[in-house]
Amino acid sequence: MIYPIGTSGSRVILTPPVLDHLAQHRQRRFWQAEAGGQLFARLDDGDIVVTEATGPRPADRRGRTYYHPEKSAEQLEIDTRHPQGLHFVGDWHTHPQAYPDPSASDLASIADAVRRSRHDLNGFVLLVVGTLDPPDGLHVSVHDGKVGYRLSPAPATRVELCPTPGKLAPRIRFI
Ligand SMILES: [Zn+2]
Repeated sequence: MIYPIGTSGSRVILTPPVLDHLAQHRQRRFWQAEAGGQLFARLDDGDIVVTEATGPRPADRRGRTYYHPEKSAEQLEIDTRHPQGLHFVGDWHTHPQAYPDPSASDLASIADAVRRSRHDLNGFVLLVVGTLDPPDGLHVSVHDGKVGYRLSPAPATRVELCPTPGKLAPRIRFI
């Protein structure tokens, strides 16, 4: 899924493995605890291509309405991925809401993370995963340390060749 960042020409791109990982941790049952982790991306000509979502980890503290990651595990993830060209670009966590919105403390903590980081990005990505399928059940925003900007997915613009009718014909059923 592709989320343009305003008119900057930059985009946040969520790859299929990331979307799958988030979908696995949705809080669809009342007993399920919040989950979360970090987002790692390749920086590709202005695009933030998110290729991995980590967590939750065994040492994280988790409840139905809170998620506190274990800080040393987070740092270890950053240190091991950086040599592979994967940059820490933000965080994700779940909410037991259909249409998720970040809480005041979510916004405060991402703003704090941006201010404390030494980073080539001028902002961080925040994903909040609700119970509905994306895009409705996925909050995507970028934060510059003062303000957050909520992003909307771009309509599909990819052009692909249609399959050759001859090859598909035996499978088509008209009803
Ligand atoms: Zn939250």
